Amino acid sequence: KSFKDLGLRDELLEACDNLGWKQPSKIQVEAIPHGLEGKDLIGLAQTGSGKTGAFALPIIQALLETPQSFFACVLSPTRELAIQIAEQFEALGSGIGLKCAVLVGGVDHVQQSIALAKRPHIVVATPGRLEDHLSNTKGFSLRTLKYLVLDEADRLLNEDFEKAIDKILESIPRERKTYLFSATMTKKVRKLQRACLRNPVKVEA
Ligand code: AMP
Repeated sequence: KSFKDLGLRDELLEACDNLGWKQPSKIQVEAIPHGLEGKDLIGLAQTGSGKTGAFALPIIQALLETPQSFFACVLSPTRELAIQIAEQFEALGSGIGLKCAVLVGGVDHVQQSIALAKRPHIVVATPGRLEDHLSNTKGFSLRTLKYLVLDEADRLLNEDFEKAIDKILESIPRERKTYLFSATMTKKVRKLQRACLRNPVKVEA
């Protein structure tokens, strides 16, 4: 299958082409059509499978249809992964002016608050720092959020982010789409899945 067969718009086909992505990976073939239909997704996938594209492409396509700031939030267990995810969003969205903010620990709060004041479309964050900004950064909220992604959910839960994730879930709309990606399906991941997702479609790399 080609990216075009998956139902992506020309802007995104061009972005994939510019990145040198000739063909969708397995997880992309499985996830993207369901994502475009507006389904919640559970993805069993490791880093290297193309999972970031699998969740970013349907989100960017939905954003193209109804542009707004603070459209999607991606939670990542580490700062390095958060930066990589933001880079992929920016690369895929470069032709359409997509703005991303990265909120991770170990970086100046003020810089991040300035990034939030620019009203990005996408926020990629580690849970602790996102919770911190939700509580302390004036004028910042995720009340209009349309998509939540829990990336590497097994690691998110191992890193003891449960409390922060609970707080974040209280600050975002229930009416939203949720994608959960994980390398393994543990008891804790299933519990998070039940708390966050509605009638999800399961896809595998
Ligand atoms: P990920 O598994 O999302 O961390 O992606 C791993 C790497 O694969 C990243 O460098 C992506 O840019 C690249 N990638 C993702 N999708 C494709 C694709 N369909 N074809 C070629 N490379 C890809």
